[in-house]
Amino acid sequence: MRWSQLFIPTLRDAPADAEVVSHKLLLRAGYVRQLAAGFYCYLYLAKRSINKIEAIIREEMNAIGAQEIFLPEVHPAEIWQESGRWDAIGDDMFRFKDRFGRDLCLGMTEEEVVTWLARGEMRSYKQLPQIWYQIQAKFRDEPRPKSGLMRVRRFTMKDSYSFDIDAAGLDVSYNKHYDAYCRIFSRCGLEYLAIEAHSGAMGGSESHEFVVPSDAGEDRVVECAASGYAANLEKAVAQAPAPTEPDPEGDAAPAELATPNQKTIAEVAAFDGLPETHHIKTLVLVADGQPVMALLRGDRQLNETKLASLLGANEIRPAHPEELRQWLGADAGSLGPVGAPKSMRIVADTALEGRKNLVAGANKTGFHLRNVTPGRDFAAEFVDIREVEEGDLDIESGQPVRLRKCIEVGHIFKLGYKYSQSMDLRVSGDEGKEVTPIMGSYGIGVERILTAAIEQNHDEAGMAMPAAIAPFEVVVTPINWKTDEQREAAETLYASLLEAGVDALLDDRAERAGVKFNDADLAGIPFRVVVGKKVTEGLVELAVRSTRQSSDVKIEEVVGLLREKLAAAKA
Ligand code: ATP
Ligand code: MG
Repeated sequence: MRWSQLFIPTLRDAPADAEVVSHKLLLRAGYVRQLAAGFYCYLYLAKRSINKIEAIIREEMNAIGAQEIFLPEVHPAEIWQESGRWDAIGDDMFRFKDRFGRDLCLGMTEEEVVTWLARGEMRSYKQLPQIWYQIQAKFRDEPRPKSGLMRVRRFTMKDSYSFDIDAAGLDVSYNKHYDAYCRIFSRCGLEYLAIEAHSGAMGGSESHEFVVPSDAGEDRVVECAASGYAANLEKAVAQAPAPTEPDPEGDAAPAELATPNQKTIAEVAAFDGLPETHHIKTLVLVADGQPVMALLRGDRQLNETKLASLLGANEIRPAHPEELRQWLGADAGSLGPVGAPKSMRIVADTALEGRKNLVAGANKTGFHLRNVTPGRDFAAEFVDIREVEEGDLDIESGQPVRLRKCIEVGHIFKLGYKYSQSMDLRVSGDEGKEVTPIMGSYGIGVERILTAAIEQNHDEAGMAMPAAIAPFEVVVTPINWKTDEQREAAETLYASLLEAGVDALLDDRAERAGVKFNDADLAGIPFRVVVGKKVTEGLVELAVRSTRQSSDVKIEEVVGLLREKLAAAKA
């Protein structure tokens, strides 16, 4: 391609509303333009990159025996009603009606469609296992579309689905995906982690997320280098370091303590002189309509996802002040487990287990209780419901964990029987008995790969795209297009690069060299061959975008050298 004929609207400055680096650079380098919140037009450079990402995904999916299919983006409500997700999924789903008044939605994922498809066609266990995949648009009416292509309302997903005869079969399909994902993200040039994840709305048991460490990310990951433990904060577990002071001695009964206007743990602790770790934090929540009391050590925070999975709840909200007064007779800030109604489920974090003589709310506004001992003064289920914090101790190695921000690029789930059971997918089994296939579901966000690659590879001059997914591999830039020797040498070089299978671009614009260099750097083209005055001595300059180093190379050696460098960069 010749730059003079391309539409690459680069900008000197990033629009003010672009926050993260990849968003700014995608706009500045002329990759994308936003049509409406979360809906983007992909211009030529973005589309080239995305095509390359998709090609890598296709190769690796084909390599594990997955079959490419293509499903409609518009789904009838009925299949989502069968699985129960028509109601379970809220405003994230785009819904509309057709001219006959039938309910439809835009696909946000396609478990229902593949299960419907399999149910109609799959007859025998002999047809299993199956892995089907597609690369196709997904629509989600995200509450806060932001950060450029990172969280959009229309994105491209590689989604695949596996059907197996039993759990051992699912393990095989799952592991194939795990390995394929590792190859895909490595080949795309990402530095990534595979972490234990929470299954969320998808249901099912085991799940891993593939994440790219980056400050622009919205996921928080708990990591321990010593043991290799890595998990999403939503489900991460670690030991909370023991309190630095021992519990007060004695076995006195709970005693009231007036704590006027002292509501938060910090206020009460300052007031009674005991550390925050010696207080019980009481949260009253409503999970799918049922009141629940969650207790935490005073210095710790609740992990709502852990609590929701324990309760099997879809929706959790804090109780309203009137509900607190009705159930416990007190306001927030003075609530506690002692004397709570028997009907209220009490879940205490394991960091409270074995403790004694703590301070808790008295269920009397403006009062707390001293000498509260879990187990003796109230009964509770002890479960880990706390959020891991930086510096907590890894379960396996006992070493401190750290928290890192990450971008989620892929997610694999063992779905189990959730969809095959709710939607009645059965095949004939070995001895004529019917069996229900077990399923897996696996997603990759194509645009997330592009944004994560930019977040991980950029500098003040722009993107430094990994060679495998850059829109072009090499740009040939004559310093002065009007100089015959330079133009002719550039043309020849460009033609031989194309012939050698290198994805080259010729910058044939009659612009100043500085402008051409800036644009190529901004767009992140990994290699630049500069044809300048030295071409008369048979030399050109080879500049490497990622290191910003350049060296003179003999013109006849350029093609071979670039092929070597590209092969190495993609290895
Ligand atoms: P997130 O937690 O970031 O919302 P998710 O858990 O909803 O992601 P999945 O349902 O597992 O995501 O979808 C599979 C993949 O699709 C994700 O790993 C991510 O790469 C991508 N993805 C999900 N939502 C979006 C979005 N709004 N914009 C761009 N990519 C997305
Ligand atoms: Mg989401």
